[in-house]
Amino acid sequence: MDIQSGMTGRDLRVPVLNMRNEPLMPTTPGRARKLLKQNKARVISSNPFTIQLLYATGETKQPVRLGVDSGYKRTGFSVVTQKRELISGEAVIRTDIPKLNQEKSMYRRGRRNKLWYRQPRFMNRGNKKEGWLAPSINHKLQTHVKLIEKLKRILPITETVIEVASFDAQKMQNPEISGIEYRQGELQGYEIREYLLEKFHRTCVYCGKTNVPLEIEHLTPRSRGGPDTVNNLAISCHECNQRKNNLTAEEFGYPEVRKMALVTLRDAAFMNTVRWKLTHLTGSAHTFGYITKKNRISLGLDKSHANDAFVIAGGTDQIRASQYEISQRRRNNRSLQVNRKGFMPSIRRKRYTFQPGDIVVHSHERFSVIGVHSYGKSIVIKGGEMKMDINTKKVKLVKYGKGLRFTAQFLPPLKKVGILGGS
Ligand SMILES: [Zn+2]
Repeated sequence: MDIQSGMTGRDLRVPVLNMRNEPLMPTTPGRARKLLKQNKARVISSNPFTIQLLYATGETKQPVRLGVDSGYKRTGFSVVTQKRELISGEAVIRTDIPKLNQEKSMYRRGRRNKLWYRQPRFMNRGNKKEGWLAPSINHKLQTHVKLIEKLKRILPITETVIEVASFDAQKMQNPEISGIEYRQGELQGYEIREYLLEKFHRTCVYCGKTNVPLEIEHLTPRSRGGPDTVNNLAISCHECNQRKNNLTAEEFGYPEVRKMALVTLRDAAFMNTVRWKLTHLTGSAHTFGYITKKNRISLGLDKSHANDAFVIAGGTDQIRASQYEISQRRRNNRSLQVNRKGFMPSIRRKRYTFQPGDIVVHSHERFSVIGVHSYGKSIVIKGGEMKMDINTKKVKLVKYGKGLRFTAQFLPPLKKVGILGGS
C-alpha cells in the first residue's frame, strides 16, 4: 500500500441502480458520497455498498463482460469493460454439505428406529430424476447461479463467459486416435498439457510427487524415434525426467506407465458437467482453461481464480478493481441437534430475532452479532476491538447474516511501490 495516500493501486467502484432498479455504470466512492449528501441517491445495500439514484437518467450502453472461473473450493469472478475492471474477487464454496446431510440422516434414523412398527420402504429409493445432482454438487451449481444473478443485478453486465473445462473434451475426446501431436508453445500444446495433467492427476508418473512443476515426458525418447503423439506422452517432475534421460519407460523400470499412457481419458470430469449446466442455466458463453492459461501467462499474471476470471472476461491492460471475498452463511440451522443437556436430539423450533452473523446498529455504530443468550433477549455484539453484551431492544437490524456476503480484501498492491511510498 502507498503509505502516503493509502491507495492500493486498485480501483474501487460503487454500483449504481437507476430509479427502475436497473444497474447503471458504477461510480467512484467520492461521487457516490456527493450524490448521497445532495439527497440525489440513497443507499440500498451495504454489502457490497450500492446506491440508487433518485432522479431519472439516460443510459450508457457499452460492453461489460463477466468472467467466471469456477473451481471446486473457490470461484473467481471479474467484471471488465474496455477501460477498467469494475469488480473482482473470489467466492468461497461451502464444502460442508455432505457432513450436514450425514448428520441429518443420522438423527432421522435415530427417530424412526424408535417407532414400534414402520412400513418397509426400502424399495422407494429409485426416484432420482434425469438431471439429478448430488446435494453437494447441486449446492455448488446453485451458488454459481446465485453469484452470477447477484452481479447482474448490480452491474450492467452484457455478456457472461464461464470456463467450462481445462480442455475441449469434445475435440480432445480421443487425441490418441485423432492423432493430435504435441508441439511446444502452440495453443494445442497447452491443451495437450492440460489433458495429460488431468489424465495423470497432476502427479509425476515415476515418483508420485504432486505440487511440483511437471514436465511433458516422452516414454520412448524423441532421440530414439519416439513420436509426439499422446500415447507416447506422460507427465513427470524435472528430476525424474533428467534421470530417465535417454531410456524408455520400460528400461527405466516403469512398464506400467506405458499401459497408463495407452488408456484414454474418458470422463470429462463431473465438475465439467456442472459447468456446462451452468452455462445453459445462465445463458452464458463458454471458454476453456488452456486458453485462459495461455493468455494469463502472456499477460504475466499470477495464478489465482480472480486473475483467471479477469482473463476469461477478456481483461488485458485494464485498471484492476479491488477485490472482494464472498462467503455464504446459513440463516437457519436445519439439522437436528442434541439438546443442551446432551440427551435427546431436539428440533429447535424457536428462532430468535437475532442470530450470529447478523449486522446491527447501536448508537450510530455498526456491529456484528457474535452470540445470543437469555432466550434471545440479549446478544453479544462486536465491532472492531469493541465487544459487548446488550439487550436486543437497544439495537436495530441492518442486515440478516444470510446469503452471499461480500468482504473487501486488502491485497498487496499490483504495482510495486518503494518503501517510502509515492512516486
Ligand atoms: Zn518424479
